Amino acid sequence: MRNEEMLLIPGPTPVVDSIYDAMASETRSHTDPRFVEIYKRSIERTRELLKTDGEVFVVSGSGTIGMEMALVNTVAAGERLLVISHGYFGDRFIQLGQAFGIEMDVLQAEWGKQVAPEEVERKLSERTYKAVTITHADTSTGVAADLEAIVPIVKKHGALVILDGVCATAAMEEDMSKEYGNPGYTIDVVLTGSQKAIGVPPGLAIVAFNKTALAAREQMDRVPAYYCDIKNWIPIMHDPSKYFATPPVNLIYGYDEGMRLLMEEGLEKRYARHSAFGRGVRAALREYGMNPLAEEEVAASTLSCLLYPEGVNDAEFRSALAKKGVIVAGALAHLAGKAFRIGHMGNTTEEMLISAIEKIGETLNEIGHAVSIEQAVNRFKEIN
Ligand SMILES: *Cc1c(COP(=O)(O)O)cnc(C)c1O
Repeated sequence: MRNEEMLLIPGPTPVVDSIYDAMASETRSHTDPRFVEIYKRSIERTRELLKTDGEVFVVSGSGTIGMEMALVNTVAAGERLLVISHGYFGDRFIQLGQAFGIEMDVLQAEWGKQVAPEEVERKLSERTYKAVTITHADTSTGVAADLEAIVPIVKKHGALVILDGVCATAAMEEDMSKEYGNPGYTIDVVLTGSQKAIGVPPGLAIVAFNKTALAAREQMDRVPAYYCDIKNWIPIMHDPSKYFATPPVNLIYGYDEGMRLLMEEGLEKRYARHSAFGRGVRAALREYGMNPLAEEEVAASTLSCLLYPEGVNDAEFRSALAKKGVIVAGALAHLAGKAFRIGHMGNTTEEMLISAIEKIGETLNEIGHAVSIEQAVNRFKEIN
């Protein structure tokens, strides 16, 4: 990798040379058959990744555009949405819903904890909801949603499952053909972005709708969107030589290579690798007195939020670590200054994480918090 720094934030994540090389290919017309072929292939690879029988959309925009596209094409103004939130990004659906006049109820977990399935059951028994949003891995807390428990409850009550995979897709299982407990109990919409566990630079929103979600869009007639109306994109996704809005040609080159790399690694292997990365990083950093906000049973594979031990200053720690070439992120909201977030996803390697664990230990030692680096590295290696 020609990167000079290790970008271990919750996205963007480290980009490998072959993706940079692909992106440096000549910019061609978006209707040039040579580009169209690559766009088409990247759409097919996305379909393979999410195993959907419906439609996938690969468009310019960040993950937030994906959230908007998912919501605006499934839930109309005045209809009711249930938001299941495990933190800052779960809550973002509340703002989105408000912008579109959607009625909402919210189940918010205490930061670091999961929403209990019984609460989801209780809400859905009380009222009818058009859809339920679930954030697969909330990037503010490092908490993963329990899809095995929640999806069947939502489907039993007939609501659509909208899954925000921005910090999970390609690292944690998101199989739209999977039936959770009963026939037809599947995830209806998955939305994600290019820059997190997929490991491509930021700029693409990726959204998949199954047949049930597409039928919901059909019933809505008009939606309060133009760029985000999936009906404008369906013809393009079927035939990318057609025009609706100019696709980001060079980014698609990179995305197609990113998709190739993840298929080459194999999804099962990739999910196992991320799970081991998450467990390993947390076990190692616990040796330094840095405790994960989320209990291990609910922790995401892709990123962790760690509380500082007594006396470690956030700004001092992160800037000293950055001087060693390891970039981690601060914590959000009430945790700012008290915790930091480290990503361990996408193209990140075992070697990079070992080096990061070493450098975190060196930094702690330098700022007067003595730790054993060897022990921490060993904990990571035991798991990876
Ligand atoms: C990063 C993130 C988003 C927002 O994505 P942007 O690309 O920043 O718009 C939404 N949801 C989750 C879970 C995220 O991690």
